[in-house]
This record gives sequence, C-alpha cells and structure tokens, in this order.
Amino acid sequence: IQETLVLVKPDGVARNLIGEILRRIEAKGYSVTDLRMVEADRGLLEQHYEEHVGKPFYEPLVEFMQSGPVVAVRVAGQRVIEGFRSLAGATDPTVAAPGTIRGDFGRDWGLRVQQNLVHGSDSPESAARELALWFR
Ligand code: ATP
Repeated sequence: IQETLVLVKPDGVARNLIGEILRRIEAKGYSVTDLRMVEADRGLLEQHYEEHVGKPFYEPLVEFMQSGPVVAVRVAGQRVIEGFRSLAGATDPTVAAPGTIRGDFGRDWGLRVQQNLVHGSDSPESAARELALWFR
C-alpha cells in the first residue's frame, strides 16, 4: 500500500471544498489516515517547494500558500500517488479535464495558476519527504 500527501490549498479551504475533495478521495477507495489544518509558515513552504526555487512562480506560490489555512491529508491506497494526481487533473485549471478536481472547480485567475485547489505528491520519494514535513 502506498501513501501520498494531499494538500487542500488556501483557495480550496476558502471556497468550502474540503469536504468535496475528501469525498472524491474516499469515493475512489482511498483511505484518509491522518489530517490536520495548518497555517503554513514560510520555512515549511520553502522546504515543501524546494524543487521550485528560482522558478518565476516560486515567490507568488509561497506567498499564496500563506494566504490562509491549508488542510494536509495523509492518504493511503493502491497506487495512490498516480491515482490522486489523476483525480486532481492538470496543473492549470483552465485545461484540466472535466471530472477532475481542478477541471470541475478550478477557475481561471489570469496568470495565477498557483490557485489550483490541491497538491499531490509526484513520486514515492516526494511523498515520504513531504509527509515527514507536514506530519512531523
Ligand atoms: P502540485 O505539485 O501542487 O500537485 P503540479 O505537480 O501539478 O502541482 P508543479 O509543476 O509541481 O505542479 O508546480 C507546483 C505548483 O506550482 C502548482 O500546483 C501550481 O500551484 C504552481 N505552478 C506551477 N506552474 C506554475 C505557473 N506557470 N504559474 C504559476 N504557478 C505555477
């Protein structure tokens, strides 16, 4: 059984989509095994997004993630890393397929692609690293 870190980002929390996102995760057959609401500080976000340091969207992203609480969720299931990324849809909500979280609820905020409701770990290595950060 695999584990992944899902984050409901500040836009997802502000738009009251926590329940809907958890519902989709559970409906797919995955299990929520831990969950916490966090006001992430800059240090945590710098570690979480270390692979993006230096990219043009890095600073706006780190600031956006501090704009409100985030819900961190530990999710377990068969091939859940790939499976959740499929539930989430493409990074840019404008082109994310209907039926995905980002495709159904994501809005076009102009250049603010960072407001795409959820994060999901992209590999077993990132999942282990990110789970250790958010559930230390
Ligand atoms: P996540 O890792 O959050 O699940 P992802 O794997 O789809 O998303 P990454 O390429 O890892 O996307 O980027 C991490 C986050 O950075 C994205 O979810 C998005 O919030 C933001 N981001 C990525 N590309 C851009 C961009 N071109 N402009 C603004 N924000 C971006």
